[in-house]
Amino acid sequence: MKYELVIGLETHVELSTESKIFCSCGGHAAADEPNDCVCPACCGMPGMLPVMNKRVVELAVTAGLMLNCHINRYTTFDKKNYYYPDLPCAYQITQLNHPICTDGCVTVKTSEGSRDIRIKQIHMEEDAGKLVHEGNSSYVDFNRTSVPLIEIVTQPDFRSAEEVVTYLAKLRSMFRSGGISECQEGAMRCDVNISVRPEGSEEFGVRTEIKNMSSFEAIERAIRYEAQRHMDALEFELEELVQETRRFDEVSGKTFAMRNKETEADYRYFPDANLMPIIIDDEWLEQIKANKPVAVDEKAEDYRAAGIVEKDIATLLSDHKISRLLDDTVALGCDAKTAASWILTDCAGILRKDGKSFDDLVVTPEKLATIIKMVEDGTINRGAGKKVLIAVVEQDVDPVAFCKEQGLDRKVDTAMIDEVIDRVIAENPKAVEDFRGGKAKALQALFGACMRELKGAGDPAMIKEKLEAKLA
Ligand code: ADP
Ligand code: MG
Ligand code: ZN
Repeated sequence: MKYELVIGLETHVELSTESKIFCSCGGHAAADEPNDCVCPACCGMPGMLPVMNKRVVELAVTAGLMLNCHINRYTTFDKKNYYYPDLPCAYQITQLNHPICTDGCVTVKTSEGSRDIRIKQIHMEEDAGKLVHEGNSSYVDFNRTSVPLIEIVTQPDFRSAEEVVTYLAKLRSMFRSGGISECQEGAMRCDVNISVRPEGSEEFGVRTEIKNMSSFEAIERAIRYEAQRHMDALEFELEELVQETRRFDEVSGKTFAMRNKETEADYRYFPDANLMPIIIDDEWLEQIKANKPVAVDEKAEDYRAAGIVEKDIATLLSDHKISRLLDDTVALGCDAKTAASWILTDCAGILRKDGKSFDDLVVTPEKLATIIKMVEDGTINRGAGKKVLIAVVEQDVDPVAFCKEQGLDRKVDTAMIDEVIDRVIAENPKAVEDFRGGKAKALQALFGACMRELKGAGDPAMIKEKLEAKLA
């Protein structure tokens, strides 16, 4: 029989905040030694009270906006009770009843086509500490206790391991570019829920959950192993599938049962009376929206709409610094396609000639926009613009001052160009006569005389056009 794989993911992502979720300790990244970043609140001393970190809410909402979620304006915390030595309060503060974001959707594109993955919810919670085992002793390190997490729960919409890994890579790239999380090793951890069903069947099969994996490679291997185990169980009736929690062993490449799946009742959830409900009003939401960085996907769309070619879009999206330079230059009023060409052709060319890369690029959006605008409004011509850009890239000069110094900045208005052309025509009757008599070369002499008078300022094509019109 042919089977279809069904997968749902629960992904924990550690947020890039300066402090923990309910106290002012720095995150565990700030720690050198075990228990460096710990205070009475986060190590669960009696009477401690949590104080909500506002930044956590903002990052969770930003993640929700990126994943097209509904943002719940009223959101609350609950206590999830269980006993474990790395959990000093014997409960974890999380969200059950009113999670911050619900009903999102994200599209994943794989070799098989694209699929919409529905996001069931995103909730905020605190991380637990860590146990360190040495010989016959176990130690507890509370540095990670109360580090803020968001958990992103999908509907069971994935149909292959490739879709899962593509989704995770997309989240990682969005969250990195959006300042939500660095998603470094261990900061993005996944629980993978798997079941299989006969192809064409509408009903879901029994699912198992593989806990706490962080490498994409392990996730892919675990899915393949577990899917095969389910199919064999159904096909040959070797074992009965039960809903349970399993762990993946990277050495053997197999999954092992850890425990029967707990149900919600096992955790005796109840509302956390120490934390007030959070109300997200219009003003706050608008502010978060305004600060939301554009996600990679949307950005590609914007670049495409601006007429930038695919190859250039790929270059821009592969380098955060370069796409940022472009976006900031556009924000200063420049056309996106024009600015992209100045960056990807002109700047890149100068850097290449000097044996440098984009990493060495010092041009600010302000300077680039100044050059582009001077060229666009005819203050200098394109060739002069390139000269200015070289000086900016190589010596970080001020473009306006440089133009003045080099005598490039003569703002040539059309009246002045007309005047010069008229004068050149009046002063060169012989050349004018030759041109009218059919000598094409004479035009070049007149044009050269105009350009000399104008000292290279003005757009050559426009000057030539005007000269021809006046001679005709
Ligand atoms: P629980 O409350 O037991 O954790 P949820 O409904 O929250 O269950 O689902 C947890 C995860 O399991 C979700 O990501 C969901 O998509 C996934 N899931 C649920 N049913 C199945 C199934 N039959 N096969 C695969 N994944 C499933
Ligand atoms: Mg769950
Ligand atoms: Zn603390």
